[in-house]
Amino acid sequence: MHEARQVFTGYERSSSSPGAAFCESCGGSMSAVDGNGGQFCTGCGRKKYRNPLPAVSVLVARGAEVLLCRRKSESLGNGLWCLPCGYIEHNEDFLTGGIREVREETGIEVEITGILSVVTNYLSPSVHSLVVVLLAQPISQEVEPVGADDADVAEWFAADGQLPAFAFEADQHIIERFFANPFHGAPVDRRFAQLVR
Ligand SMILES: [Zn+2]
Repeated sequence: MHEARQVFTGYERSSSSPGAAFCESCGGSMSAVDGNGGQFCTGCGRKKYRNPLPAVSVLVARGAEVLLCRRKSESLGNGLWCLPCGYIEHNEDFLTGGIREVREETGIEVEITGILSVVTNYLSPSVHSLVVVLLAQPISQEVEPVGADDADVAEWFAADGQLPAFAFEADQHIIERFFANPFHGAPVDRRFAQLVR
């Protein structure tokens, strides 16, 4: 029932992927999108590659509770619930990115304790992500979460109780699998796993 899953598809994959209309270098017309999502400029020949976006999501566990946030209705995920998550910024490592996303979306300071999984998410024709899934614990047990940034609400949920509707199938799988079979995940680089002491 809780076999590992690492590839999730949120749309009909046969639909074609939208590409760029014009070249970023010379303004020439771009070719049709090829089977890998790539294009080339019909003017200067510049190749445009498309790759999944690197992201991080964080399962923050407090005993048998999990920290979830509700995505703002105008955001990707449209009013449904998810693990705190987001794209990794250019000048940060993924561990720091995980701590930052939890803080931004819930106000909770966490320590990353393990790497739970890595997931391919085909979210929409224009957004494919590669998500490093981290395990974390709150640094303080007493602080109550507050939704902010891409989230309008953040709450603790009992993992064995009624969970809300999820924006991303991967999150539901990760939560169910983790609490059915808790494990520590792969060890993390301690130098980047905790920012606040
Ligand atoms: Zn060009």
